[in-house]
Amino acid sequence: MTRLVPTALIILTASAATADETRQLDAHEHGVGQLNIAFDGDQIAMELHAPGADIVGFEYTAESAEDRGLVDAAVATLARPLDLFALPAAAGCSVVQASASLESEEANDEHGHEDHAEHEEEGDDHAEHDHEDEHHAEEDGHTEFHAEYLLNCANPAQATLIDFAYFDAFPNALELEVQVITDRGATAFEVERDAPVLDLRDMF
Ligand SMILES: [Zn+2]
Repeated sequence: MTRLVPTALIILTASAATADETRQLDAHEHGVGQLNIAFDGDQIAMELHAPGADIVGFEYTAESAEDRGLVDAAVATLARPLDLFALPAAAGCSVVQASASLESEEANDEHGHEDHAEHEEEGDDHAEHDHEDEHHAEEDGHTEFHAEYLLNCANPAQATLIDFAYFDAFPNALELEVQVITDRGATAFEVERDAPVLDLRDMF
């Protein structure tokens, strides 16, 4: 059991530092996000990745005022972790740091660019229209929202029940794959919309 602790911590650290650069967003499953929760002394660090489809209902680049408004509102909501992952009052947790952003895979979609060039030469209006659709689907690809949180808790061992109001905030989200790390090791959970509560009493 103790052997698991350093391994899990290394994974979490690597994910925060560099793994985002090479993350394959097209490997994600719509409806399913990932949440890491690490208890360390008085602090709880959390990291969330969720498909754009789950959070705002689309993964194309927001260009209309309405879509941009949805993204801005989602980022603002994601920056309030205790409204999404409610902890017992007895834990006495407050937010030290919270950040949220939208990530896209546009930059490394070379296939989309090749198609783009072929279609440019076709010329007629109808082909241009088809091209617009493909342009959207291929170059924009998938997006994910990414958030990181740091909480400070007076009694972190009381943070044993997490209420996932996240699913109320984001109606398209169906499941979070949760990894929890405490002094006793790392444990994986799946928290679903039907049963949006995580019981961590065995983790302390
Ligand atoms: Zn996607």
